[in-house]
Amino acid sequence: MIDLANITLTYPDGTSRITAVDDASLRVNAGTVVGLTGPSGSGKSSLLAVASTLISPDRGTVTIDGINATNLSLTELAELRRTKVGLVFQQSNLLASLTAYEQLLVMNELTTQRSRRAARAATRNRARNLLDAVGLAADADKRPAQLSGGQRQRVNIARALMHEPSVLIVDEPTSALDQERGTQIIDLLLRLTGEHATATLLVTHDQRILPRLTSTYAMVDGHLALVRDADLVA
Ligand code: ADP
Ligand code: ADP
Repeated sequence: MIDLANITLTYPDGTSRITAVDDASLRVNAGTVVGLTGPSGSGKSSLLAVASTLISPDRGTVTIDGINATNLSLTELAELRRTKVGLVFQQSNLLASLTAYEQLLVMNELTTQRSRRAARAATRNRARNLLDAVGLAADADKRPAQLSGGQRQRVNIARALMHEPSVLIVDEPTSALDQERGTQIIDLLLRLTGEHATATLLVTHDQRILPRLTSTYAMVDGHLALVRDADLVA
């Protein structure tokens, strides 16, 4: 579960400060996908950075899976991210020299401290299962250059799920894809969110996606408002 309560975030701007997020509150329950939309510069990326605990807000409370992140130390925050938060960015962050399968293994080395032999077998198993779940079982040994944009995004999603996060933060996963591939990625995220019971927060500019999500928030000039599906369909 992600719970953002009364979040305000400002950045330094010369001698004053610019307010990127203004008193925003939002909740994402386990097993649901909540959309976040709004024009460029409205504060979506800033809110995602707060939700993923990469940036601490000026005011407000961030609760991840029941843990209040507000007063944690930097070390504790890193631990919270490492164990609870999965990130999928617009740009693929895959390493050029590694195969799809290796991208997942590397992620787990970085994110868990489970020890040795049995853990390694479990990690390999999980990587294979996740590649299978995203439809890439046959492409496990391909490097990013040998994969299409849609396939690379699938690797990103599989990798983000390696450490069994309870929260999945996804930033415009379909922006580089055509409509059909984009729809497939959204279908995949909806299915995996249900299967893994993650609380998924999804930033998207794609209006066609929004009616399929559990609920949608719109951001304008740092202000966040809940948009009902009925309003979108009308
Ligand atoms: P969006 O993701 O909706 O495009 P952002 O969260 O990136 O919006 O930006 C919100 C506002 O905060 C914009 O006015 C932007 O210029 C400003 N902003 C974003 N990041 C920074 C930063 N690191 N330093 C200063 N201002 C920033
Ligand atoms: P997706 O629906 O995931 O985007 P595509 O239908 O575009 O996948 O790709 C299907 C097949 O084409 C895959 O076997 C993939 O390896 C191959 N392929 C797609 N794009 C490229 C590329 N840029 N370089 C090499 N192979 C590619």
